Amino acid sequence: MIKIFIDPGHGGPDPGAQGNGVSEEVVNLNVSLELARLLRNAGFDVRVYRTTSDENVLANKNADLRNRAETANRWGADYFISIHTNSSERPAAQGVEAYVYRLGTTSERLGQSIVNSVAENLGSVNRGVMQANFAVLRRTDMPAVLVELGYLTNATEALNLNSPAWQRAVAAAIFEGIVDYTGYPD
Ligand SMILES: [Zn+2]
Repeated sequence: MIKIFIDPGHGGPDPGAQGNGVSEEVVNLNVSLELARLLRNAGFDVRVYRTTSDENVLANKNADLRNRAETANRWGADYFISIHTNSSERPAAQGVEAYVYRLGTTSERLGQSIVNSVAENLGSVNRGVMQANFAVLRRTDMPAVLVELGYLTNATEALNLNSPAWQRAVAAAIFEGIVDYTGYPD
């Protein structure tokens, strides 16, 4: 069984990015739960760090990020997928992107597969995969990708990100990107 750890970004005392009346932690959670459902139906072993707004979320931000990575490490996840939603000071900023700790790795190839699938299936601008020194990427032992689904500060993308139908569609696109890279479990 391929073990996939899903990390819905933020939650608890940290709502994440806000834009156009939409809260990041809610979007991240909805998409993560739908992604988990699709992966389980396909035969993956899935664990989700938080399945509610505040489950497992520690009050201290750094301790919480460390705990997310360490929970995945202890479980022995094969892949770590962190789901986030972006914001920018420029309202025109839009599109899907992903972050990995090192380029030229399995993480980058998995991230590219996910970003390409989201861009192709949802029509989002493809901003590619970039390097970032994020704690959940640095502290995880397995290939790890942090996906930014779109920009809450962009009026059009905020409408999409807040839509249950769009949330289901982007979860399906991420699922397809994962399966394109890993194949289905045996
Ligand atoms: Zn975030």
